Amino acid sequence: MPAVHNASVKCAAVAAASLLVLAGCGSSDDNQPKNPSVIILSGDGMGPQQRTAIQYYLYGLDERQPMDALPYSGFLDTIPGDPEYAVTDSAAGATAWAIGQKVPNGTTGLGPDGESVPTLLDLAQKRGMATGLVNDHDVTNATLAAFGSPVPDRDLKVDIARGYLDRGVDVLFGGGEKYWYPEGDPGRIPDAGEDDASEGDEDLVARAQSDGYQYAYDQPTFDALTGPKALALVQDSAKRRSTEIEGYDYSSDPNYVAPERLVSKALEILGTNENGFFLVIESDDLDSDGHEHDAQNMMLAGESVNNMVKVITEYQKDHPEVLLIVTADHETGGMTIENVLDDGEPEPNSDQVADDPVPYWAEIPENMPLPGGGVPKRSGPFPIKGTDREFKVDWTTPEHTGTMVPVTAAGPLAERFTGVHPNTYVYDVVTELWGDQ
Ligand SMILES: [Zn+2]
Repeated sequence: MPAVHNASVKCAAVAAASLLVLAGCGSSDDNQPKNPSVIILSGDGMGPQQRTAIQYYLYGLDERQPMDALPYSGFLDTIPGDPEYAVTDSAAGATAWAIGQKVPNGTTGLGPDGESVPTLLDLAQKRGMATGLVNDHDVTNATLAAFGSPVPDRDLKVDIARGYLDRGVDVLFGGGEKYWYPEGDPGRIPDAGEDDASEGDEDLVARAQSDGYQYAYDQPTFDALTGPKALALVQDSAKRRSTEIEGYDYSSDPNYVAPERLVSKALEILGTNENGFFLVIESDDLDSDGHEHDAQNMMLAGESVNNMVKVITEYQKDHPEVLLIVTADHETGGMTIENVLDDGEPEPNSDQVADDPVPYWAEIPENMPLPGGGVPKRSGPFPIKGTDREFKVDWTTPEHTGTMVPVTAAGPLAERFTGVHPNTYVYDVVTELWGDQ
């Protein structure tokens, strides 16, 4: 996308989008809101049917769910720049947003040939903006790493953590403290199971603190964060721990901080930078639930995405210079919404492994328990809120699928997302908003 644009057209569009007359309008080369901030919120694996199911189950037919109530919407394709595959992984999907190029699967923030290229987070830093990465799971996951710590392999989690500190990303909130502490050091959250043991090779938390980061590991230390640099390793794969720890309930875990609280704190800290901020948020639980064919927890993760959107749209009321983009890197599970058949009628899809309450790779249900315990329903039936109707879901694969994904947006240049675009378009719109680099 060219870097030079028609000033009057763009100015009118921005003013219309935010219902404000903006100070820069009319001048020849400064036709955007001054110091626009950008938030990208990814519901990992959140395809059109997921968004629809979340709508039906939790919001019904009268009230539009917050992420779909944003004023502009369109679709993004998800195909990677891969010589072999038609379906993307999260690393290539996020890299398309981060650098504006289609890359092979597994590529995390690097160019198609593994070369270093500036990411949106790099460009934000160059503009003097504050930067933040927030996840409801490990903060070192591929989606956020594609922006803040490009690596040749998405599994290099310790290198990703170190890379965040090398870059000086201001706000780092999520889980996965085991990558930040050296082997043998359990960190601040008690270890539970072998999977939870530290895997690092140096104390990156100590390094962060000496670099000027405040550090939080539970609710009180989290609430005390003021920035401008803050590291919170609080989630620690909280929801998934419930599959490993008998009786674990994340809602009463003192180390667990709800995703929407992570987001409001991130806005509080990042919003103090007069040059604006760039924030990437991921709901990783949504993708895990899709892989596990766990529709009920997928929809609850969707509620958490909506709660994050609510926090952001509330913030936008006083900060119309903030562009919010809500989308997904891909769909997960090949999920569809179906009618519930009458009792006794043969279930046409009952021979499909994906539709079984026990996945083909296990002998017992492996779902995360629901809050308060209990095995969630993988496929339903689920009520449509406020009605007597029910739906069920069907799954076609435990992997990702190649469908287009919805994108909704609010704020300056949000109207650009109307229509169907490649996923690299996220980069194009953000760089357009920021102007010449
Ligand atoms: Zn996935």
